[in-house]
Amino acid sequence: MSLLDDYAKITGEAVIGHLKQLAAPLKGMKIVHVNSTRVGGGVAEILTKLIPLQRELGIDSSWEIITGEADFYQCTKRFHNALQGSQVSLPDSLLKVYEDTNAKCAEELRSKLEEADFVFIHDPQPAAILKNCPNRKGKWVWRCHIDGSHPYRPVWKYLKNYVVDYDASIFSLAVFSQVLPHPQFLIPPSIDPLTEKNIHLSKKEVKKVYSRFNIDPHKPFILQVSRFDKFKDPVGVIRAYRFTKKFIPDIQLALAGGSASDDPEGEIMLNEVRNAAADDPNIHVLLLPPDAHRTINALQRASDIVLQKSIREGFGLTVTEAMWKGKAVIGGDTGGIRLQVINHHTGFLVSTPEGAALRIRYLLHHRDKLFEMGQKAKEFVRENFLITRLLRGHLTLLVGLLHGTEDRIELN
Ligand code: UDP
Repeated sequence: MSLLDDYAKITGEAVIGHLKQLAAPLKGMKIVHVNSTRVGGGVAEILTKLIPLQRELGIDSSWEIITGEADFYQCTKRFHNALQGSQVSLPDSLLKVYEDTNAKCAEELRSKLEEADFVFIHDPQPAAILKNCPNRKGKWVWRCHIDGSHPYRPVWKYLKNYVVDYDASIFSLAVFSQVLPHPQFLIPPSIDPLTEKNIHLSKKEVKKVYSRFNIDPHKPFILQVSRFDKFKDPVGVIRAYRFTKKFIPDIQLALAGGSASDDPEGEIMLNEVRNAAADDPNIHVLLLPPDAHRTINALQRASDIVLQKSIREGFGLTVTEAMWKGKAVIGGDTGGIRLQVINHHTGFLVSTPEGAALRIRYLLHHRDKLFEMGQKAKEFVRENFLITRLLRGHLTLLVGLLHGTEDRIELN
């Protein structure tokens, strides 16, 4: 059985048929994706699935990575922070490392990239490769996965100098897009329903998390899964819990996040969370290892309501993950959460702990509504935020680029 057949069981045959139709004019074409890591991080996760799916559709898709010395990553980390709004310093010496590394990597990849029909360059790390491939045959697309809504201008100005040469660029949300002289496409992130994090789990496996984390399955249970980061507002979640507790005394809360040992800010936040939780036995602060995907999956399924009370959020994959499990999400009214939580339909958008508490109480007292919203949330994700939709976005973009400015594109 093929990979696409597995997805057809989730999305329906029509979605897969549509993908095949879109891919037909692209059969045999060479696409090369370039990023800077094969494992770890969202980009690698997406490419791990996107490339085999494109190949199954008859497209000759492949993946190259570029590597550099420590200075290179120091420089690109600063690019990343600057695109997200931090005022970073970038001495010429670091920029030179960036340019030299890209030139060196281009040496190795040049013939393959110049021959390809389409090249996708992911994020700033390999963005300067294009300047080193003067005889390109195909179309080059810069794919930005970063929240660049408020970039630090001097750094964006430097990077833009490379980006303007591309034939198109892709951003995750409209607010992240930039002023550029070429077409920009919006392709929001997506989740893969077939990974450990999102795959269906048996009731027995879900139930195990109750005893493992000392949660009473007969009492209401709310959850937030997030790094311990001020923008995720875990202390605000605890305040919302306390407001709710006045009316629903047996409510339980779990805040699940990764270990913060290598992140000084994370550790400060974690301590703040622990202080705010004090010795309340119904607040569970769970430090999970980075590969606890199945545990997170089970926690999301075991909870009554999932919160993502962020103050700022690029997209919020935890929101998508929870909605895919049929959960109504109470999310902060910000960033990509607004794209997913349709207020009063797939969940509630809130701006304060008091607002979150009000919505928690409402949903726990109206279980029918809670269930209905959860079902709508799941269908909303099926329609909009699964990897098949991301693949459709890519194929549509490719067909569009192939046909340039034609008014009408016929697909057989
Ligand atoms: N996540 C995880 N372990 C944790 C906390 C988060 O595996 O302890 C996962 C979570 O399930 C989601 C991703 O990390 O897949 C976080 O993505 P999101 O877009 O929600 O937030 P980010 O951390 O990128 O700001």
